[in-house]
Amino acid sequence: MLRKTKEAINRGHSQVNSAPPDWFARGLGHIWLPYTQMKTAAQPLPVVRAQGSRIYLADGRVLIDGVASWWTACHGYNHPHISTAVSHQLELMPHVMFGGLVHEPALLLARRLAALLPAGLDRVFFCDSGSVAVEVAMKMALQFWLNKGESQRSRFVAFRGAYHGDTFGAMSVCDPEEGMHSRFTGVLPRQYIADLPVTAQAARAFDELLERHAASLAAIIVEPLVQGAGGMLFHGPEVLRHLRAAAERHELLLIFDEVFTGFGRTGTLFACEAARVAPDIIALSKALTGGTLGLGATVAAKNVFEAFLSGEPAHALMHGPTFMANPLACAAANASLDLFEREPRLKQVAAIEAALVSGLESARKLPHVREVRVRGAIGVVELDRIGDIDELRRRFVEAGVFVRPFGKIVYLTPAFTISEDELRSLTRAVVSVLAR
Ligand code: PLP
Repeated sequence: MLRKTKEAINRGHSQVNSAPPDWFARGLGHIWLPYTQMKTAAQPLPVVRAQGSRIYLADGRVLIDGVASWWTACHGYNHPHISTAVSHQLELMPHVMFGGLVHEPALLLARRLAALLPAGLDRVFFCDSGSVAVEVAMKMALQFWLNKGESQRSRFVAFRGAYHGDTFGAMSVCDPEEGMHSRFTGVLPRQYIADLPVTAQAARAFDELLERHAASLAAIIVEPLVQGAGGMLFHGPEVLRHLRAAAERHELLLIFDEVFTGFGRTGTLFACEAARVAPDIIALSKALTGGTLGLGATVAAKNVFEAFLSGEPAHALMHGPTFMANPLACAAANASLDLFEREPRLKQVAAIEAALVSGLESARKLPHVREVRVRGAIGVVELDRIGDIDELRRRFVEAGVFVRPFGKIVYLTPAFTISEDELRSLTRAVVSVLAR
């Protein structure tokens, strides 16, 4: 490691160089950032390197990462086992189309995913992101019924607090107000949005909704155990069992969006394991490649796949992203699964859970804190409201950490490989920044 970098780590967040790099100054005026009011937003931070749980900024500051890049980098950044696998694949074949051609990284990955998921979920359709994995899941559900001659089954039941992505189908099943897409009301396909059946009353309302509308429904879609970008809201496994029973009563498909919860984040490899509930379709992405490259997978149960088998070409699944099953991404995903096999990731998640519980405990007493909640490697401090979010984000950087509050929450979703010291720095920064 360069001496300068080592010094920067030791100094934590102290500044080394002050002039922004040339690429930053010249390129920023040409970039359009996500979820950002470009007129008023604070400038993004130029990053030059990321390693483990550290983000290295161009000015020499080093931040401890509390987000794992939107919950993807579960083994930390730049894990040598994944990097080696990707480099090896790069020499052989960075990409080849998946129409009419297949390759070992994808077929191996499909087989491994099928073996890890609940029994029966064993047909894998690859794509390139979480939103598209959800689109494909919804398309599978719609076409499942079309192929059976039931074209009236064209709508979905989704839940308040949900977030499933930014493409049009996915937007239509997000929370209509909190799901970041309220500007598009009236343009999106209309779905039924219910409260999650977390109380007896909500369960009754949900059951009644299904009684009334089942004939027009294709599927129920839910993020199991944790609704992520909708506010890091938790529910129990009994809710998923209620949904499974309701889906069976009305012969609906059940879709689990495990784009966020998949690969250990909630404490088990998949959230559905904790509830012992198997969906008919599951969407995966984010930590699938250990956060190295974009990849999504929609995995269908046998009965779903079989509804597409016929002598009729139009019964085939009509989807095929150009970069589906990209060999580099599949190689990264296989290497990530190796790490789940070889290293004690789920034990690390349990240790992180305990450290988040104790480290965030004192936040409960702070003014404006409404709730502190922890599940697996997810720690959340919910506030009454956040006034100036840019200012809050800036104060975290000043404290030497990368934490990105949204809505009314400040949350930590670190890499599972984070050290005890780094995690302590994160929880201390959350408590001290919120105390000011
Ligand atoms: N589904 C869930 C549960 C998510 O949390 C997200 C992203 O945050 C998505 C889908 C969309 O994934 P992507 O951003 O890769 O399109």
